[in-house]
Amino acid sequence: MDYKIVGNGSADIIHEIEKLKLDKKEIENRISKLEAQLKADEAVQMKANQACSSYDSILDGHAVSSNGLTPGMIYRYSRHLLLPDFGVEGQINLAKSSILVVGAGGLGSPVVLYLASCGIGCIGIVDSDIVELNNLHRQIIHPEAYVGHAKVKSAAAACRAINSSINLVEHNQALQASNALDIVSKYDIVVDATDNLPSRYMISDCCVVMNKPLISGAALGLEGQLTVYHHKGGPCYRCLFPTPPPTAACQRCSDSGVLGVVPGVIGCLQALEAIKVASGIGETLSGRMLIFDALSSRIRIVKLRGRSLQCFACGDNADFTQQSFQSFDYEGFTQSPMSDKARPKLSLISDSARITSREYKDLIDKQEPHILVDVRPAHHFKITAIPESINIPLSALEDQISLVDSHLKEVAKDSGKAASLYVVCRRGNDSQRAVDFLNKNGFPLAKDIIGGLESWAQDVDPSFPIY
Ligand SMILES: [Zn+2]
Repeated sequence: MDYKIVGNGSADIIHEIEKLKLDKKEIENRISKLEAQLKADEAVQMKANQACSSYDSILDGHAVSSNGLTPGMIYRYSRHLLLPDFGVEGQINLAKSSILVVGAGGLGSPVVLYLASCGIGCIGIVDSDIVELNNLHRQIIHPEAYVGHAKVKSAAAACRAINSSINLVEHNQALQASNALDIVSKYDIVVDATDNLPSRYMISDCCVVMNKPLISGAALGLEGQLTVYHHKGGPCYRCLFPTPPPTAACQRCSDSGVLGVVPGVIGCLQALEAIKVASGIGETLSGRMLIFDALSSRIRIVKLRGRSLQCFACGDNADFTQQSFQSFDYEGFTQSPMSDKARPKLSLISDSARITSREYKDLIDKQEPHILVDVRPAHHFKITAIPESINIPLSALEDQISLVDSHLKEVAKDSGKAASLYVVCRRGNDSQRAVDFLNKNGFPLAKDIIGGLESWAQDVDPSFPIY
């Protein structure tokens, strides 16, 4: 196309049309890929169902043998039965047990897959989230075709494809103090595969009042840990952590990142502990904590304090009942939200020290002389950034405050006008902390961009990557 024969405005429009056409092609490609995958999944599911029903008719049509296993079970679980320490008894114990897995994410994926394949009689999965593309690098139970769909649906479908002979219960809701007693009461064992502090306290307390063993795991960054709580006289979570750590110490994968395989390793070990508790074999991690360091490939096991006689939940004189459990404010107690989506927005500085991302875009269009300081950590800045922005991480702002001044002076010199100062971060919290600091340290007119780069992507530039 010859851009020379048209004016500048037309060239922009043509350029935009070409870009949109490319986007359209990419979206169409993705749709057909997902449609193909959905078809393939349905075919696999159908084949699996047929295969299972034919097994049933060939093998399981026969009566249960005297050891309590059907011929189908003997064939399917033969490698378990061959283990002298596990054997028929272990397998029957698994078939008789019911396990609730809270969270169908990075930890929950391997937990649920192993529990389904090994023949746990009934598995409940609780989760209210939907599958998102940035889950898939670690939440290996979910395929691309389920992006946008409920995690429990996706996880249950994966389990049914592996083992149609077990019961699967989908609890498509968030586990909360109001519904936990009812849900947990239906199961023998609970696996905590969540990623937040209020849920950790709530699930532990619920297991204490319902008297259920709890397999608890956590994975963040390059580290993971697991233990078994409230099992055979062992401690509960509160025995070890009577008071929650300060909020700043509680991080999440959406902030700190996580290497995909780390929750995978911990989830597999959680499945192992659940199988040990269910089958009654081996020595569980009750009273001990396993700590996994992915970088050095080191696994340490530390001995934990025993059950605390003064524990608020399980202590000798504790007055913690089902009723007190239901009325306990876990988010208030831990000062952190259960859901990532309900993350509270910080409101630290006055509205006059803030602008929206659209207002910032207008000011770029009007070529207002200014600098934009991006206060995210350097490795975030490398992922993506607004062009021309200057990276001074919040943690280094105090030391590098002279840089702000020199950049402002440079822009003022070039434009012949005073330059203004704007601050941005990922979501609009750290930028407020930075502006608060700048306002008090010689930059009274500094302003932050409300909602950070997320609002920039949402309201100004849809092609700006979000992470
Ligand atoms: Zn306790």
